[in-house]
Amino acid sequence: MASVTEGQTLEARVLEALRAIPAPDRNGDIVSRGMVTGLVVKDGNVGFSIEVDPREGPRAEPLRKAAEQAVDRVSGVLSVTAVLTAHRGAPQAKPAEHAHAHGHAHAHPQAQPGQKTAPGRTPVAGVQHIIAVASGKGGVGKSTTAVNLALALSSIGLKVGLLDADIYGPSVPRLLGITGKPETTPEKKLAPMQKYGLKVMSMGFVVAEDTPMIWRGPMVMSAITQLLREVDWGQLDVLVCDLPPGTGDAQLTMAQSVPLSGAVIVSTPQDIALIDARKGLNMFRKVDVPVLGIIENMSYFICSHCGHRTDIFSHGGAHREADRMETPFLGEIPLDIQIRETSDAGTPIVVSLPESPHTAAYRAVAEQVWRQLTDQPLRPAPRIVIQ
Ligand code: ADP
Repeated sequence: MASVTEGQTLEARVLEALRAIPAPDRNGDIVSRGMVTGLVVKDGNVGFSIEVDPREGPRAEPLRKAAEQAVDRVSGVLSVTAVLTAHRGAPQAKPAEHAHAHGHAHAHPQAQPGQKTAPGRTPVAGVQHIIAVASGKGGVGKSTTAVNLALALSSIGLKVGLLDADIYGPSVPRLLGITGKPETTPEKKLAPMQKYGLKVMSMGFVVAEDTPMIWRGPMVMSAITQLLREVDWGQLDVLVCDLPPGTGDAQLTMAQSVPLSGAVIVSTPQDIALIDARKGLNMFRKVDVPVLGIIENMSYFICSHCGHRTDIFSHGGAHREADRMETPFLGEIPLDIQIRETSDAGTPIVVSLPESPHTAAYRAVAEQVWRQLTDQPLRPAPRIVIQ
């Protein structure tokens, strides 16, 4: 990490450079107008966001570029990433209005997968689809599911990356048994780590595991932005993004700033009943990200001695709830000691026991997810509605 003094000095110089960029209405500059948020300076790597009125839409892109170029010229800056975010409180175009404007009738009251991303969510070059794996709360097996889903997508022949965006508790390095630090490419990007055919990036690689990580909302976004955009992902069919648990501001901001094609929600049967999953669902709908469906984890129990299956929670409830929430039910993964043991050993079940029924279950989920991402007809890019 950069020393505090070094960080502050560079931060001041960065802000000064940004003060040279006028606000779109020419009334003052972007810093004094409070449009620059979440500035993070670390080892010469700079990230920040520019809050714009969503009605500015693509017209704000030159502003973003100009800001990036201005910062890039500051001595001591190694890399710079600026993202556009929708200015809070400004009127948002409602998803329903897009659907009506294009005469589409959808079975689900949500955006459809495969659509172009909204303005401000600049796509990541070379990455075809980014999907989030989210959960209403921690401990439901979200990371275990994200890792096995990524491996299952890879096992059906796709080029897959895994971004551990759970920066509060990055567990992907442990789940995949990866140690060491990523290298820097000649283009000053980070080279993702590679394991089991996946390209992997995690805050856990760059920050020691015992470092207390107290991230304020905007800093979370900049950290994610750096993991997403300053990594040389190369060509990927799908990048699986393991989000932090919960549905708070941090998750909402991330869902807004990452160009997501869709989201998968992991839930245990009891949480599905306890509306946690519903909160996750609503969060993505709010930011117009299609929910690809719900995965029920720890769905039923398989006895490791006799293989007997016990439905600890009444079976079928999750499926019914998913129907009620008008979202696809992607499948159920049992509570099984093999899943936990292989995770803890850094050898996830999809690679260590490829013929097991659990691997088949993950693969079935992966196939559904991929079908949803690719089968949907491409919707026209969301229209900017001038109100
Ligand atoms: P989260 O990311 O939601 O906090 P984790 O993926 O870290 O949850 O899982 C929490 C614990 O539950 C881990 O010890 C993991 O091995 C275990 N676990 C997750 N899914 C299963 C499952 N289907 N069967 C058995 N253990 C599981």
